[in-house]
Amino acid sequence: MYLIFIGPPGAGKGTQAKRICDHFSIVHLSTGVILRDEISKNSPIGKSAKTFIDVGQLVPDDVLLKKMSGRLAQNDCNNGYCLDGFPRTITQAKGLEQILTNLNQSLDAVVSIVADEEELINRLVLRGSTSGRTDDTPEIIRQRLRVYRRQTEPLIEFYEQQNLIKAVEGVGKITEITERILNTLV
Ligand code: AMP
Repeated sequence: MYLIFIGPPGAGKGTQAKRICDHFSIVHLSTGVILRDEISKNSPIGKSAKTFIDVGQLVPDDVLLKKMSGRLAQNDCNNGYCLDGFPRTITQAKGLEQILTNLNQSLDAVVSIVADEEELINRLVLRGSTSGRTDDTPEIIRQRLRVYRRQTEPLIEFYEQQNLIKAVEGVGKITEITERILNTLV
């Protein structure tokens, strides 16, 4: 099962992607986690990524495409994966198509988690008090939501044209939302 999770910050995309990966025993690949890991190692990628992440901007496409083309070629990806937070731009989505062709893989579905703006801001501000993430402050949250609307939301139309979109309402109990997602994937 090869899946992509798309959703605005705070929609619960990471939580649900993890639960779906556990369900299907496939790899969970969060580019946010991968980049924060590079930051904690103080690697060259991490140092550069931090300058974008801290201001709520996207890290440049070539950095993500290079990193993900290496990662998706690893053996643990052969049985499938959930991509959480990647692709985030049309350029990344087109780059991913090339990567998938080279690896002889194809997407099964793109799960789009939907939630209203008010709900997202409340959740993120709450998460900010415990996550320790430098980008969970009200000002940066608003910026990340703007970036999502402008750069990532067009992906829904892109994948809609390939008939891959499964839209799921992201409000409710965590377990109920997982059920909703699983129901769209059968
Ligand atoms: P996330 O944990 O998915 O909310 O990602 C946190 C931050 O990492 C984002 O606000 C971006 O700055 C950066 N990031 C994560 N994934 C990507 C991506 N696919 N393309 C560009 N930047 C990304």
